[in-house]
Amino acid sequence: MERTLDSLDEDLLNDRALTRDEALVLYAAAADPDAAEPLFGAAARLRDRGFGKGVHYMATMAPILACAIKPRCEYCDWWRARVIQRGRLAAGAAALSARGVRRVLLVGGSRDGDYDDGVVDAVERIRADGLDLDIEINVGGSLGAAGLDRLRALGVVGVTASLETVNAAIFARHKPGDSLAARRRLLADAQQRGFELRSIMMIGLGEADADRIDHLLELRTHAGLRHLMISRFSPRADTPLAEREVAALHDWARTVAIARLLLPRVRIGLAGGVDLAALPLWHRAGGGNQLFAMGVHTAEPPPELRDLAQPLGDRLYLVDRRPLLEAFLNGAGLRPSFADAQDCR
Ligand code: SF4
Repeated sequence: MERTLDSLDEDLLNDRALTRDEALVLYAAAADPDAAEPLFGAAARLRDRGFGKGVHYMATMAPILACAIKPRCEYCDWWRARVIQRGRLAAGAAALSARGVRRVLLVGGSRDGDYDDGVVDAVERIRADGLDLDIEINVGGSLGAAGLDRLRALGVVGVTASLETVNAAIFARHKPGDSLAARRRLLADAQQRGFELRSIMMIGLGEADADRIDHLLELRTHAGLRHLMISRFSPRADTPLAEREVAALHDWARTVAIARLLLPRVRIGLAGGVDLAALPLWHRAGGGNQLFAMGVHTAEPPPELRDLAQPLGDRLYLVDRRPLLEAFLNGAGLRPSFADAQDCR
């Protein structure tokens, strides 16, 4: 298997796509942590050859809209977060820009139907002060075709449609108020309009290995996919899944690695349930090369982040995580930058 993996690097970069059967075999073989190094090594070599040592820093702002999905997704408590006041969006973006940020992801909630007017308004408020920021949007599946056209006209560069899981039964069970079909439609509509696509895949909702591989293969059909974030189910208090076991960290890491082999040119990043202690494992498993270095949020920063937080007034906070990220990145010889110098498309 190791010899096969060694010879795969060149093939994959030359667009000899890994097959479903190959992916399933490699993924299963890496289920034992002691046997995962060949897969991790191949994924990391592929990442290095595609992206080099540069790491692209960007930022998030959230939530920009209330989540109106009901019933709530069973793993989520984020819908409780206080929404950023409309009148504070520009100040939050300006604070990020002042620290060097050039790209920001504006994050939902979602609702059944479209959130076109709310998202367009948020972008217009940020653009009103002439800020030169690349903007991406993530409001679940809640953007219509007309909204996408308006966002394109406003210069928005990217749209997220996170499928979470492509196992329809699991999606319906744990996201009973949400629509997998709407999220798939958004991926297709956004690609058709030339947006960069970002998606999110959650590990640990009960999906099988084959579901995960099929998920990645479905994403591979979207040529515009540029960013994939892999999250790890972690139980949240006061949610229906509070008693469910956290997804194994190794399971998350081997998914990062197989995603790299299936999607060699896609940036594969951290997502919910994955803390910064997992950065070395993410890198070893072929993750890269983009990280959220900062965020503007309404939640009061926890004690361990208080020294990194800048209060922006009206209970809005900017948290700059660069010191935490660079404790690892510098030692690994990686070079973070706000400039997206390594465009691997
Ligand atoms: S759509 Fe679901 S996961 Fe997203 S904020 Fe709403 S309840 Fe949470």
